[in-house]
Amino acid sequence: MDGFFHENDLVGVLTTQPLDRALDYRAPEGGCHLGAFVEVPLGPRRVVGVVWGPGQGGIDANRIRKVHRVLDVPPMREELREFLVKAGDYTLTPMSAMLRLATRAPGLGDAPSTRRVLRRGPGRPSRETDARARVLAVLDEMGGLALTQGELAEAAGVTASVIKGLVAQGVVLEEEAPRDTPYPRLDPDHGGKTLTDDQKEAAEFLRAGVRGGRYGTTLLRGVTGSGKTEVYLEAVAECLSRGRQALVLLPEIALTAEFLTRVEARFGHKPAEWHHGVTQTERRRAWRMVATGGAELVVGARSALFLPFRNLGLVVVDEEHDTSYKQEDGVLYNARDMAVLRASLNDAAVVLASATPSLESWANAEAGKYARLTLGSRYGEAVLPEMRAIDMRAEDLPSNRWISPSLQRAAATRIGRGEQVLFFLNRRGYAPVTVCRACGHQIGCAQCDARMVEHRFLKRLVCHQCGDSVPIPAACPSCAAEDKLAAVGPGVERLAEEARALFPEARIAVLSSDLYGSARQLKAEIETIASGGADIVVGTQLVAKGHNFPLLTLVGVIDADLGLQGSDLRAAERTFQLMRQVAGRAGRAEKRGTALLQTHQPEHPVIRAILSGDEEGFWRAEAAERRAAGVPPYGRMAGIVLSSTDAQEAFDLGNALARQDAALRRVGAQVFGPAPAPVARVRGRHRVRLLVKAPKGVPLQRALADWVGQFRLKGDLRLAIDIDPQSF
Ligand code: ADP
Ligand code: ZN
Repeated sequence: MDGFFHENDLVGVLTTQPLDRALDYRAPEGGCHLGAFVEVPLGPRRVVGVVWGPGQGGIDANRIRKVHRVLDVPPMREELREFLVKAGDYTLTPMSAMLRLATRAPGLGDAPSTRRVLRRGPGRPSRETDARARVLAVLDEMGGLALTQGELAEAAGVTASVIKGLVAQGVVLEEEAPRDTPYPRLDPDHGGKTLTDDQKEAAEFLRAGVRGGRYGTTLLRGVTGSGKTEVYLEAVAECLSRGRQALVLLPEIALTAEFLTRVEARFGHKPAEWHHGVTQTERRRAWRMVATGGAELVVGARSALFLPFRNLGLVVVDEEHDTSYKQEDGVLYNARDMAVLRASLNDAAVVLASATPSLESWANAEAGKYARLTLGSRYGEAVLPEMRAIDMRAEDLPSNRWISPSLQRAAATRIGRGEQVLFFLNRRGYAPVTVCRACGHQIGCAQCDARMVEHRFLKRLVCHQCGDSVPIPAACPSCAAEDKLAAVGPGVERLAEEARALFPEARIAVLSSDLYGSARQLKAEIETIASGGADIVVGTQLVAKGHNFPLLTLVGVIDADLGLQGSDLRAAERTFQLMRQVAGRAGRAEKRGTALLQTHQPEHPVIRAILSGDEEGFWRAEAAERRAAGVPPYGRMAGIVLSSTDAQEAFDLGNALARQDAALRRVGAQVFGPAPAPVARVRGRHRVRLLVKAPKGVPLQRALADWVGQFRLKGDLRLAIDIDPQSF
């Protein structure tokens, strides 16, 4: 049989241990399939691995150890193995690290776990109390479905002892049931909306793509509220009715709860969830059900791309432009690009949805690599917000105040009408800088080259780089002067304080990721706002992401210039996207919204493009600049970050790399740097960055591997390669 190894055949097993290649083992009793998840001895330990191919041989066969056992999960499919290899090659990541991404299921090596459940038995209770009758009624109603004791007690409103009594009499039966149960089947026809003509056309296009059963990517554009979600759920419906699995990626777990509710309304049940907020038990269940087909739809974070889908037919990347799709720790990959790769290996369709696509996706659509769909207007009566600038040079604003008189007047009018207002500032905390008025010292992080940000709500100074925090000191750490520390500049917490002073009657909600202990609290706050429990929302970019606030009619951007500073070539794109997203929060239902942008440079081309709403014009101008500079998406970039506790060592290696660049020059690539990385010190480690720029279509990865391979890393030097860096 193809892809099967008989007992004692030599097999190569890839493990998650950092060894970089498969190790030889002998197949276990009963043999094993190619791709099987196995437990193998490694030194004194047992580790989980995957049968990756035939063994290499060449060593004394007697010395080769035997696979300990085959785990009770379906073998890893060829598409996923190929995906791991290709994604590893692209990101220059060792296979062991890639495999770790695909085996993040708790208890993968354990026997299938069970739980004790209760069922209706044949007998009748000798004494039928009210409580007992309720228990039996619940069990009868469940019609054969088993419940745990806790679930049953809660449903019947009785104590555990009532149930134990019934078990003792044999009226209720207790038994073992597998924990990893399939998710309820989704009904593709459950709750579809009547689509507008525009939406119908787009949905039919996506449905046809899924029906075709081949790879193809579609960029689904449309302003916030135009019904993109509604439309791509039609593609999901098509996929489900073809018996294939679908994956929807969201950039932010805070969005999941709202999305799950929508899926339930559309398909009758909630789908499987996959992100770090999900319990271990539920993750285990999701992983196994994805592998066996007991989960038809997964909603998740980027790591869901590495799940062992049995038959993946569709991947949706919602808010595809979102920078949080780029993993910035460990394996550096962009989930949007990896989604396209994974789908192409699975003959699956891809939908990239966004109101403000990334320049990369826009360029791919222009070049004809992606199909393009555009939803013209908003669903229902809602129209796009009117956008205007407030020229801050003409506003009379005292120091330490950020809400201009013009914005204040506009807000007062809206609040007076019972509508909601959003003050948007993309800065967490109370104040970005804490300075001593006696000596001028600015409090910085001891570990990083970053200022400590005051978080008054937490009563601490926090480093946004490493997360380190200290209580707000009473005296200056430099000159010891007391009561001289002053907050400089605004963060959302301080802005909320200003809003409270300006609008003492208003109910104010602050939406910032660090103010909520859990996703549930955040969800509750979002629901409060959505149902009108606040007059003013003060928020960071958390609010820019897809929430529905039907009463919100005015967005005031406190500092539209914030993202335009610095030399990052992507700054314009980011600012454009963020401002359009934020403005899109205004006026969703029947009320026309307004977005007011406070700016010191209303003539800046990016600000003008935002105000005019000429997206195509903006993209074209931006594309022309990138093309001229030879940077993505018209050229290729890689960042090399060297870090060490010793700055000199990092720089020395950086300089040596810059000098010995023959491997790069051979493929026409250029190296820039070394220079201090955008954040030059993190957690006590100095960081130096080199940037490599290459034309498209050259074997850049191979050249990079040859180039850095010339050097061995001494001491505590570390080297990370970031293909397609976010900033350049
Ligand atoms: P987007 O994903 O583009 O932001 P949504 O799909 O979330 O847009 O649609 C915005 C709102 O309009 C949602 O509440 C959605 O349910 C509603 N909506 C969109 N299209 C329809 C439709 N054809 N019928 C009923 N409601 C719709
Ligand atoms: Zn720090």
